[in-house]
Amino acid sequence: MVILSRKRSLYSTRRLVEAIKHRGHRPLVLDTLRCSMILARGKPRMMYRGVEIRGVDVVIPRIGASITAYGLAVVTHFDMMGVPVVNAAQSISRSRDKLRCLQYLSRAGLDIPRTVMAHDRSNVRKLVEEVGGLPVIIKLIRGTQGVGVMIAHTQPEVQTIVDTFWDLGQEIVLQEFVAESKGKDVRALVVGDRVVGAMRRQAKKEGEFRSNIHRGGEGQPIQLPPSYIEAAVTAASIIGLGIAGVDMLEGHEGPRLMEINSSPGFEGLEAATRQDIAGEMIDYALEFAESKRADKRTH
Ligand code: ADP
Ligand code: GLU
Repeated sequence: MVILSRKRSLYSTRRLVEAIKHRGHRPLVLDTLRCSMILARGKPRMMYRGVEIRGVDVVIPRIGASITAYGLAVVTHFDMMGVPVVNAAQSISRSRDKLRCLQYLSRAGLDIPRTVMAHDRSNVRKLVEEVGGLPVIIKLIRGTQGVGVMIAHTQPEVQTIVDTFWDLGQEIVLQEFVAESKGKDVRALVVGDRVVGAMRRQAKKEGEFRSNIHRGGEGQPIQLPPSYIEAAVTAASIIGLGIAGVDMLEGHEGPRLMEINSSPGFEGLEAATRQDIAGEMIDYALEFAESKRADKRTH
């Protein structure tokens, strides 16, 4: 069982390795950037530090945002080699782009904060009205871990921020500020068609609206209401992810989908819930690989 990961010392990677061994299988951690893809006429091949990779039953990609492009190529390559991959390249790529992800979710009728993407400097006031007025959330399309998520309280502030990012060639979205969520959000970890663990994250500092663990947020285990479970599972399946961290805000009328992580870290979640999240992922990966093998046999 291959885990694509930059570092074997990362908590989530270590836990996955443990879970694989515990089930009597062989883990192989491959540094994504050291996978060389060989293309020529015939079957695609993969080399790792000069050695050909063979006999892989399933791949669990953990692709960090900073190496998305190369990572997606490696994931696609395994797929082309006929190796089952629990999160397909196309699905990872859909989740990485915040706007693209929301386009899929809103089309499926899921509730999301009102969001606009535009590039029109002369109409920023109108765009702010479109998402419900001030204050407004501004997000980099490809931000992660809370970096690149801002709040603007005045019109000149909005204008300065959007102008700066557009000048830097960065695309952003403006988003309705869901005030009732009060610096909290909900992370549901979806594995297959189930939520295997959930926590509410609370921003640490007074005045901080971002509840990311990486921004010092703290997780409390929670029992999710059915509407939240359904929203999270539906969202993951629409994006096409077998393993997904689904982030939701608690709106007055229920869950509002914010984003989906295709390589969710689960240190905070295992600490908060005391559940064996790694084990759930590996059981799913094994089932997934088995069902792909069965598909092949019948074709
Ligand atoms: P990242 O991918 O960087 O984690 P998110 O879009 O999840 O970015 O935003 C980071 C945090 O900011 C969220 O966990 C949430 O606490 C807060 N947040 C994001 N969007 C909104 C919003 N529209 N209204 C209120 N809070 C928000
Ligand atoms: N990779 C992290 C995760 O999915 C980023 C999200 C965060 O900072 O909370 O858990």
